[in-house]
Amino acid sequence: MDTIWMAQGSCANTDPEVFFPHDGIGVALAKLVCESCTVAAPCLEYALMNRVEHGVWGGCSERQRRRILKARRAAARNDELVAVAA
Ligand code: SF4
Repeated sequence: MDTIWMAQGSCANTDPEVFFPHDGIGVALAKLVCESCTVAAPCLEYALMNRVEHGVWGGCSERQRRRILKARRAAARNDELVAVAA
């Protein structure tokens, strides 16, 4: 997966520490920066594909990314069951 988008992120000129918050307020502040980011989609996908566990990526917290991955795994299992049943 290419990383050209990284230089285009709204966070390019922001202290990276902002994206590795220690509390909910910090997460909310990071998400505010992500809200206006034009490369949020590839950023989120990069974090999901690379199983990045820490920080805010693509406007999603660590917890949100875990939920997305869990939902994707469930969907994949469901697709497998449908394929077997067909
Ligand atoms: S979505 Fe957020 S973390 Fe990702 S590049 Fe944009 S501003 Fe940075």
